[in-house]
Amino acid sequence: MRYPSVLMVCGTLTFMLAGCTTNEQVEPKEPTTQSSTIDEPQTEPNEPTSDQEEVETESQTDEETTESESEVEEEPAEPSTTEEPTIPVQPIEIGGVANLDLEELILVNKQIALPANYQPSDLVEAKIDFVDSSVGDRRMMRKEAARAIESLMSDAKAAGIDLKGTSAFRSYGYQVTLFNAYVERDGKEQAMKYSAPPGHSEHQTGLAIDVSSASVNYQLTQSLGETVEGKWLADHAHEYGFIVRYQKAFEEETGYMYEPWHLRYIGTKHAKEVHTLNQPFDRYIEEYMK
Ligand SMILES: [Zn+2]
Repeated sequence: MRYPSVLMVCGTLTFMLAGCTTNEQVEPKEPTTQSSTIDEPQTEPNEPTSDQEEVETESQTDEETTESESEVEEEPAEPSTTEEPTIPVQPIEIGGVANLDLEELILVNKQIALPANYQPSDLVEAKIDFVDSSVGDRRMMRKEAARAIESLMSDAKAAGIDLKGTSAFRSYGYQVTLFNAYVERDGKEQAMKYSAPPGHSEHQTGLAIDVSSASVNYQLTQSLGETVEGKWLADHAHEYGFIVRYQKAFEEETGYMYEPWHLRYIGTKHAKEVHTLNQPFDRYIEEYMK
């Protein structure tokens, strides 16, 4: 935890730095360079001679980085506004609890759980056909994932592929009910093979959805993988940012049985890579964050 040191810095530099916060310190301000505040150049009233800076308020006129080679008028890299921000290397879990800051790359598995009270703040209804018209909040996904599954379903339909959603978001409370019912029916050991204990379900991230097809009576069954619909998913899901998370070849590594119906959103860039590498997301993200 960096808070104590950050607070100390804030305390000592209060008079020098206007906007010192306890948030991300990714780009520490440099108090020695007067013209380092590129966002608000007008706030420096003591520099009436710098006419050039007023003309080029948008371009990054860095005196310290002498990149004379690349003096093309390029937009300065602003991580906050890019569509697909490059996530800096960071831990994938802290004490068995998933690092929520990983956003769509968040890793949840048998070992790593979500906080019990976690619920994504941007859940929206995925506007696709669902098998059960009364699934309620289980139609919800995080906004980006919802738009992606809508696009996938729309293109699937156009290609003559009949798919429907079964369920997407699952709250912690719902997982408790579901898991207890499975344990009651099949015993804990067996239940653990096909269901996640509360907090360990990817469905709680709002980034996962189960889908099925009429050709298997909309059941969540491994035979979906043999159908044209299941094969279409395996071949095309990554184009929309999804991966078929639990593959047959990964059973031992993930601890989950083959689930051709379970799609997990990780964004197109990473989904394409995972698809090409053909490895479990767990291994992929561990390598990626090294
Ligand atoms: Zn699932």
